[in-house]
Amino acid sequence: MNFSNNPYPRLFEPLDLGFTTLKNRVLMGSMHTGLEDIPGSHERMAAFYGERARGGVALIVTGGFMASQYCLPPGEQPLYKDPAQVAKHQLITKAVHEHDGKICLQILHTGRYARHENLIAPSPIKSPISRYVPNEATEEQIEAEIQAFVDFSLFCKQANYDGVEIMGSEGYFINEFITERTNKRTDKWGGSYENRIRLPLEIVSRVREAVGQDFIIIYRLSMLDLVEGGSTAEEVLQLGQAVCEAGASIINTGIGWHEATIPTIATKVPRAAFTWVTAQFRDKIPAPVITSNRINTPEVAEKILSRGDADMVSMARPLLADAFFVAKAEADRADAINTCIACNQACLDHIFSAQVSSCLVNPRACHETELQISPVTKEKKIAVVGGGPAGLAAAVTAAERGHSVTLFDADNKIGGQFNLAKRIPGKEEFYETLRYYQHQLEQFDVAINLATRVSAEDLNKSDFDEIVVATGIKPRVPDIDGIDHKSVLSYVDVITGKATVGDRVAIIGAGGIGFDTAEYLSHAGESTSQNIPAFMKEWGIDMELNARAGVEGMEAEVVPSPRTIFLCQRKPEGLGKTLGKTTGWIHRIGLVKKGIKMLSGCQYVRIDDAGLHLLVNNEPRTLAVDNVVICAGQEPLRELTEGLNKPFHLIGGADIAAELDAKRAIDQGTRLAAEV
Ligand code: FAD
Ligand code: NAP
Ligand code: SF4
Repeated sequence: MNFSNNPYPRLFEPLDLGFTTLKNRVLMGSMHTGLEDIPGSHERMAAFYGERARGGVALIVTGGFMASQYCLPPGEQPLYKDPAQVAKHQLITKAVHEHDGKICLQILHTGRYARHENLIAPSPIKSPISRYVPNEATEEQIEAEIQAFVDFSLFCKQANYDGVEIMGSEGYFINEFITERTNKRTDKWGGSYENRIRLPLEIVSRVREAVGQDFIIIYRLSMLDLVEGGSTAEEVLQLGQAVCEAGASIINTGIGWHEATIPTIATKVPRAAFTWVTAQFRDKIPAPVITSNRINTPEVAEKILSRGDADMVSMARPLLADAFFVAKAEADRADAINTCIACNQACLDHIFSAQVSSCLVNPRACHETELQISPVTKEKKIAVVGGGPAGLAAAVTAAERGHSVTLFDADNKIGGQFNLAKRIPGKEEFYETLRYYQHQLEQFDVAINLATRVSAEDLNKSDFDEIVVATGIKPRVPDIDGIDHKSVLSYVDVITGKATVGDRVAIIGAGGIGFDTAEYLSHAGESTSQNIPAFMKEWGIDMELNARAGVEGMEAEVVPSPRTIFLCQRKPEGLGKTLGKTTGWIHRIGLVKKGIKMLSGCQYVRIDDAGLHLLVNNEPRTLAVDNVVICAGQEPLRELTEGLNKPFHLIGGADIAAELDAKRAIDQGTRLAAEV
């Protein structure tokens, strides 16, 4: 390509590894999708990875495949032990190679993070996020685990993988040997740092010896453990250099152990928040170095590479969100990229609830063989009423297939509730979804009618072949004495800034919106998700890397809330249980650090000039607040359907408001439009 015409010249510079060349600087980082665990899902994996290779990524790393029986439930064996698996994995590698991509398989040893009783680790120390205490690995077992990495790599070679990634970070087995936190051994595998890094070096050198020189070995190096007792920067560098000498072709950056209580990939984390870590090691490590975490646009990726922070960028979730991210960037069509908003709702949260991953903004991810967006044989005239996530997904999908689509919204802009979500500090990424949909509406010629409240009568008079009702929700108004008091506000008026909010506030309802409203009201000034140094201070991370693992001995510096805020719920349990599995803890910790008071077991009695009167665990209390903000859930808004004398489809909140989120709204809109 002609680099002078492309705004991302560094991103599209080939990378010469000596024995092979990567066509650009994008690595699709490893993501466990859940497909790895489903017997016979090779066709699905081939379709998933093949589509991403077609989308232009240079090198893909698969989700982690278990290295050993100690990572798997009793009775299960790692796949490399079954020779029949070679042909099945050749389907995956063929699908990638057909599109001029390369693919490495990640070999993962879970160590003490394994989710069953038969687990091993360097020492019998339970992780704070695991149920079981691991057995201390015997020397014989350690030898067998090294051999497992070798045998697995040879399996990968047979299956035509271009290489392997050896997972040495995130607090898994290899990482557990490296740090004093988890390695208390006194034999040759523990004690001195030289002894503790013996395991990764033995694995890499023996794998290299077995596979020869023309095979990629990526070593995922934990550059910032973010846990007490983790590695120092000097130790990380020593290991990085030694791993290259042992035969690694590329070093990939790992940030944070799974048990670290610091967010590293959630939407609150600034874009490219951790590339400064990779940058500190890059020049001293003799192999190309990859950086990662919250890189989600080509502009950001280009900036990282031109700054010299790394030789390649790893993007994982952004390629779930848009398989054609790289091709669009290469064609200078970044505005057409469906951006990952780092919500974790359909990817990581699914994995933690034993479901196959997908993507909130792209429900086709990991469902490529089943959810097809095919051209229509007969064009229809379709009305979509409501331009929130459900209506937008339905409109653009139907139009992409070739239908003639008209979108109506009562508001003067598209987006529905995403226009509220995007105003929450730490949720600025939601702007990108609206930018993307605006682009798609224009690309597929959807007729857009804003500031148009549609009635049943309008639709009855129209000649649409199909009517999609995506009118969303109305906030629930709870039956509390004094609900009409002047101090009572709706979350909509608060978040849009229409209402003036006092210094002392009670929030009724602690679901997603109650938490977000507390977040909104507890911030003063710029959000730390827009400012890397401020974010590092807020979470107590040493950007000089003098502190062991980046955190030891560090104090977090939190800007307190400018308001006194009480967040209330009726349920007796702790607040935030309904939030996302992998992000709820971040919201909770963040608000507690800001001094938000969380009250469960509330019974609301009355709202009057004195404030909110309630019983907290049956004890009467009065919260002397200036305002009471109602975030008590939502109900479907579908009055439009009363008197509608034509068939219609209900999607999103208009269909079911309970437990509604944008994941369901977009999925439902897309699936309806794929069939209509
Ligand atoms: P809506 O987004 O409510 O859209 C309905 C649209 O219909 C509106 O634009 C409305 O103007 C229009 N409309 C209504 N009646 C008519 C009519 N008669 N004629 C024309 N137009 C009409 N979800 C998540 O998954 N993750 C999050 O992190 C998240 N954060 C949130 C934060 C906040 C502060 C809020 C308020 C919501 C958040 N949500 C989040 C929820 C998410 O936004 C909703 O689930 C989603 O917007 C529902 O989509 P929808 O299309 O069904 O309805
Ligand atoms: P929600 O999650 O259902 O929470 C509603 C809250 O109001 C609960 O705390 C509920 O708990 C309380 N409540 C319900 N009825 C009440 C009543 N009659 N009187 C007083 N309190 C009452 O709904 P939401 O917060 O409005 O969020 C709507 C949807 O948007 C959610 O389903 C969520 O998935 C989505 N969302 C997601 C995120 C995210 O980060 N993923 C963020 C925002 C919104 P008690 O009954 O215990 O009081
Ligand atoms: Fe990104 Fe959310 Fe999609 Fe996961 S579900 S890939 S975090 S947009």
